[in-house]
Amino acid sequence: MKELIKALVETCGPSGSEEKVRELIAAEVRGLATSLEVDALGNLIAMVRGKGGGRRIMLAAHMDEIGLVVSHVDERGFLRFQPLGGVPTRTLVGGRVRFANGLRGAIGAEEKGLGQNDLPRFDQLFIDVGARSKEACPVRVGDVACFDRDFVDLGDRLIAKAFDDRIGCAILIQTLKELGETPNDVYMVFTVQEELGLRGAQTAAFGVEADLGIAVDVTRTGDTPEARTMAVGLGGGPAIKVKDRGMLTHRGVRQWMIDTAQVAGVPYQLEVLEAGTTDGMAMQTTKAGLPVGVLSVATRYVHTPSEMVDYQDVTNSVRLLVELLRRPPRL
Ligand SMILES: [Zn+2]
Repeated sequence: MKELIKALVETCGPSGSEEKVRELIAAEVRGLATSLEVDALGNLIAMVRGKGGGRRIMLAAHMDEIGLVVSHVDERGFLRFQPLGGVPTRTLVGGRVRFANGLRGAIGAEEKGLGQNDLPRFDQLFIDVGARSKEACPVRVGDVACFDRDFVDLGDRLIAKAFDDRIGCAILIQTLKELGETPNDVYMVFTVQEELGLRGAQTAAFGVEADLGIAVDVTRTGDTPEARTMAVGLGGGPAIKVKDRGMLTHRGVRQWMIDTAQVAGVPYQLEVLEAGTTDGMAMQTTKAGLPVGVLSVATRYVHTPSEMVDYQDVTNSVRLLVELLRRPPRL
């Protein structure tokens, strides 16, 4: 599964520019799904028809990652930019970015008015693509970039940009590969623009009209030096969400996930997240409402160019989803 993960995280797909990620995922799932479609916003929906007796279940993982959009090119060819999604400026200075056409650049900071250890504001930062003038600059206002980082395999632990939420995409793809026969109609939805406010999941959930939903996304951890107190850590198994800032998960779905993990012998941990939310919130509040649970992958350094996950958590997340989907849900 590591090769699939590497391909996914090294692909550039900031919110609204998910095409390359979508192409990659479509190629992986084409032979496995009963139908494959792309909706108006760009969500990729892979449906597996069940053999009957089950329910219509929607799973969602978002294809987009946080990134930058160019807002101005100055006379000397330096680019000013705005964030796409929640980008902390402390992660940017000295970092590198990559544009859709492969062009790379370095992020610099203004020196006047900024002390060595000061946190810069976005308007004090710029991208340098090596251009000598505005005319010679190959980048235009509106062009988007992602962070430029390679996948690192440390054995049990993995480092990459965009584990949020390519690791969720990888888990859904692998679940589809291992699923086999199911009584349920399973809709694997790879959503767009989550980082801008769950926009893809909102329309996809409306269209799919599922009986039940599960979002798969990353969550933070409490297991690093002086971390926020949080009962989630790397290697503790898939995290079954209780609450985040946007939702309380459905009690029946949550219990079904816990019971299934216990019966199957899959380790799990319970998650209460202070900040942030997932596509689960948009699914839960679609139309007249949907029972929704969330499976989270414990991730250190979320929304930095070097996020870290535990590989066992990833494979255990696949095991749990396969177990959940193989039988009709019991709520
Ligand atoms: Zn996410």
